[in-house]
Amino acid sequence: MQATHYQVAALDPNAHLFEVRCTIDDPDPQGQRYRLAAWIPGSYLIREFARQFVHVRAESAGAAVAITKEAKDVWRAAPAAAALTVIAQVYAYDLSVRTAYFDRTRAYFNGTSLFLLPEGRDGAPCTVELLRPDGDDFVEWRVATTLASDGATPHGFGRYKAADYDELIDHPVEMSDFALAAFAAGGVRHEIAISGRHHADLERLARDLARICQWQIDLFGGAPSSRPPFDRYLFQITAVGDGYGGLEHRSSTSLMCRRDELPVRGRSEISDGYLHLLGLASHEYFHSWNVKRIKPSVFMPYDLAREAYTRQLWAFEGITSYYDDLALVRSGVIDDAQYLELLGRAISQVLRTPGRHRQSIGDSSFDAWIKFYRQDENSPNAIVSYYAKGSLVALALDLALRSAGRTSLDDVMRALWRRHGSAGVGVPEDAIESIVGELAGADMRAFFARYVHGTDDPPLDDLLAAFGIDWHLRAASGAGDRGGKPSSSAAPACWFGARVAKDLTLQHVFTGSPAQRAGLAARDVLVAIDGVRASAESVDALATTRGAGERISVHAFRRDELFAVDVELASAPLDTCYLAPKLDAPGTAAALRQAWLHG
Ligand SMILES: [Zn+2]
Repeated sequence: MQATHYQVAALDPNAHLFEVRCTIDDPDPQGQRYRLAAWIPGSYLIREFARQFVHVRAESAGAAVAITKEAKDVWRAAPAAAALTVIAQVYAYDLSVRTAYFDRTRAYFNGTSLFLLPEGRDGAPCTVELLRPDGDDFVEWRVATTLASDGATPHGFGRYKAADYDELIDHPVEMSDFALAAFAAGGVRHEIAISGRHHADLERLARDLARICQWQIDLFGGAPSSRPPFDRYLFQITAVGDGYGGLEHRSSTSLMCRRDELPVRGRSEISDGYLHLLGLASHEYFHSWNVKRIKPSVFMPYDLAREAYTRQLWAFEGITSYYDDLALVRSGVIDDAQYLELLGRAISQVLRTPGRHRQSIGDSSFDAWIKFYRQDENSPNAIVSYYAKGSLVALALDLALRSAGRTSLDDVMRALWRRHGSAGVGVPEDAIESIVGELAGADMRAFFARYVHGTDDPPLDDLLAAFGIDWHLRAASGAGDRGGKPSSSAAPACWFGARVAKDLTLQHVFTGSPAQRAGLAARDVLVAIDGVRASAESVDALATTRGAGERISVHAFRRDELFAVDVELASAPLDTCYLAPKLDAPGTAAALRQAWLHG
């Protein structure tokens, strides 16, 4: 099949416009149809990227060709006898890892936002010519992408290529004066390109990522001679004042982080922010195996025109979320105490979500398109995160398998890699459950029925006890308490039951809480408590200065109407977990823990 040729020109940084050309030599004589993706793999929401196409025209042999829309994401050009080019101007000003962005500081795009697919050419090879923007602002710009070169020099503008459309759109492109670092893992060159203003210690970041990546390569390939399933890898990082996000690709990832999460030169401790960034990078890297290659059958191939339903996102995101932090301790980047702190926070996050009693992680996976990705004020009461609870189910599964002594989740992942990922075979909806049962030599259906397809909490307190780890629950000590070790502030005595923003707007009112029972609702704005003007501090102080059973008078606005209710405060829920190694754990428990965290 003849190639599809694309050209990307960053047209106008002030109008945030790319001009994208798509040329084919042998258009459909009946009139060529073109389609644009409605979603991007890894982010399960219909985003309708065609919304940002501001102008589309077509030409052939130097003359204009009529092109009309047939659907929100479909165009048809009139029949043309010679090569046909469609020229689209695309608005790109979304600072996220999922779409496209262009201003004087950087240009970035995912192919799903820019590249029309000529109908019937999914399998055709593609070329892409990237043009340097005109002007003095752009002379220092380089290109960071893992698209294969088709003549472009390393980090240069020019021609790149892909074997087919699916490969083309799985290599996001960064164009800016990014900082660059490199390291080797598994015998493969890995690069880190950081755009945005920052003063990061790139050597330290490279050193830590090298250990994390090497551990993951060894997990799937078996040390010491294993290689990852790609020839090179790129961490594209955008540093911003406030922002967070990551999206996985087959040989790269796009990450967005706060610049204060990057490691600082001359410092050796791991800040919470840096730990967060390492966890994110580790997460996306693990996806190189788990979801980019080991993937649900329904993603092979992706249908980017409509939702692709699977009940397995808990495995592809939850298991990945389990391993992202586990890789930090297994690779020696953090110690056991730091890992248990992270685990305590992950458990607390789930315990504070009443929606886990309403929705299973299997159902959360299925409905990701309309629920997890479209959260609203009632989401904590109605849904559960297949990431957060999924990671706890993965932990429970790993601990249960290890306790039984025959296998571990590591073996399950290696079996998935051998049978599905490296074999290019999709994972059917029931495959993980049967592989686990086979390796465990036990019937694991009850485990999956209760914790994946049902809403039970996995029995982590018992499972962790067998590994010599004590499970403690306590009340949260304030809005900023994320879980883990108890802070020194006073123990809270009572519970109001709403998440309140700094401007005193109620964001979430939790199921069964005193606030909900009194009739308060999300978007109400607090005015006064017991006749005194409310403040963020006075709301936070309720937990420690009042007691369960006390009644408080609350004035609030709903829309523009003032009202008053009495709220009877309740006991503070024990929804905050911290974990600690048991000092007098028997040798068998200590050995299990050692094999789990350092095996
Ligand atoms: Zn993920």
